[in-house]
Amino acid sequence: MLETLTTPKFEIDVNAGTNSLAGLDRAALATALGSVGVPERQQRMRVAQLWGWLYVRGVTRFEQMTDVSKDLRGALAASFTLDRPEIVAEQVSVDGTRKWLMRLPKRGHEKRAPEVETVYIPEADRGTLCISSQVGCTLTCSFCHTGTQKLVRNLEHQEIVAQILLARDRIGDWPGAAPAGDPRLLPVGDRKITNIVLMGMGEPLYNFDNVRRAMSVAADGEGLSVSKRRITLSTSGVVPEIERWGREAQTMLAISLHATRDELRDELVPINKRYPIAELMAACRNYPGVSNARRITFEYVMLKGINDSLVDARALVKLLAGIPAKINLIPFNPWPGTRYECSEWGQIEKFADYVNAAGYASPVRTPRGRDILAACGQLKSESTKLRASERNAPAATLSNQGVADMPTPPAE
Ligand code: SAH
Ligand code: SF4
Repeated sequence: MLETLTTPKFEIDVNAGTNSLAGLDRAALATALGSVGVPERQQRMRVAQLWGWLYVRGVTRFEQMTDVSKDLRGALAASFTLDRPEIVAEQVSVDGTRKWLMRLPKRGHEKRAPEVETVYIPEADRGTLCISSQVGCTLTCSFCHTGTQKLVRNLEHQEIVAQILLARDRIGDWPGAAPAGDPRLLPVGDRKITNIVLMGMGEPLYNFDNVRRAMSVAADGEGLSVSKRRITLSTSGVVPEIERWGREAQTMLAISLHATRDELRDELVPINKRYPIAELMAACRNYPGVSNARRITFEYVMLKGINDSLVDARALVKLLAGIPAKINLIPFNPWPGTRYECSEWGQIEKFADYVNAAGYASPVRTPRGRDILAACGQLKSESTKLRASERNAPAATLSNQGVADMPTPPAE
C-alpha cells in the first residue's frame, strides 16, 4: 500500500513536453512511479503491473487497471496520461497498406511539433510495421526522398514504441478489440503485427540508444512480445555501430547496399565515403549471431541504367559470397524531383533470375502502398509538403504524385 502519495509537478527526462506513460521502458516507468511517491522497493512490482496493462492489453485509461490500487490509479491519473501521439492523417491503400502521419509532442524549445510516418503492410501470413527512428535524416542518399530533408531530431524511445501502440489501436490488434478495416486484407493469425522493420524515416544506428531501448520494449516477452527474430534494423552502413547493435539488441539486420563498387555507392549512399564497401562487408561477416538460419538482408534498389545490369548482378553475387545473405530487390519508388527512374520490369526480372540462379531466393515484392506514398523512400517529405486539406484527400488523388512512371509488375 502507498502511505503517502505526492503529486509534485514533475518532468521525467525522457518525457519532457508530454506526460504520457505509453511507450516507456521499465526504467522510465520506475522513475515515473517514484515521482508520485511509490517507494523504491515497490517500484519493480508496480512496473510489472503497469507493463501488462500497457503492453499486453493496450489500455488507454488508468481506471481499466483493475488490479492496481485505487489510490495509485488516482495518483497516476493526476500526473500522467496514457495518450498516444496525435494522428494527423491516416491513409489506407487499396492493397490494405496503411500509413499514419503522427504528430509528436513538442520537446524543449521546439517551435513546431515534429511529425513522423509509420506504415503497416498486411500480408496473408504476417503483418509488418515499418517504423521511423528519426524525424528526417542526416544522410543524403541520392535516391531517397527522406534524405532530402534535414534531420529535425532523434525520436525518444517512447516515441518509437508509441508507433507500435498507435498502429495496434488503429488496426484493433489488442485482446478483445474488433479488427478494424477489411478483414480480407489482414493476416489470418491472432496477431496482426507480427514483424517490425526499422525502415521508416531516419538512420536507426544514429539514434542507437533510443532505438535499442524501444526494441527491448517491443521484444519483451511479458509485453508486446515481438520476437527479436522478427525485428529487422536497416542501416545505410554505420559500420562502427553494427557489431554493437548485434551484441546488445540481437535483432535481424538489413544493409542498404544498392551498389557493389565504391565509386557508385559513394554517389548513391554517401556514408560509403566514410565506411567503404570492404569495411561494411567485414562488419556483416562479424555480425553477432549471423548464420544460415539468421541471414543478413541486403537491400538493393533497382535504378534504371545505374545499377541494374547483369554485370551488376554478377558483381553482387560475388561480393556476397561467404556471407549468409538474403537479397531484397526493391523497385525504385520515384518522387517528385528525383533524377532516377525505376528499372524496366523485364530488367528487374532478369536481374532477379540471375540472383536466384546463384542460390538467393530474392522474390521481387510488388511495391506496397504506392497509391498513398507509403513505399520505401517515399516517407515523410510528401506529407510535410502537403497542406492539411491535401493530406485529407482520398488516396486516389495522391496516387498521381510521383508514381506516374512506375513500371507495373505482372499480375501474380
Ligand atoms: N535509413 C535506413 C532505413 C530507412 S530506408 C537505411 O537507409 O537503411 C529503408 C530502405 O528503403 C533502405 O534500403 C533505403 O535505401 C530504401 N529506399 C530509400 N529510398 C528509396 C526509394 N525511393 N525507392 C526504393 N527504396 C528506397
Ligand atoms: Fe537516410 Fe536511409 Fe534515406 Fe539514406 S536511405 S537518406 S540513410 S533514410
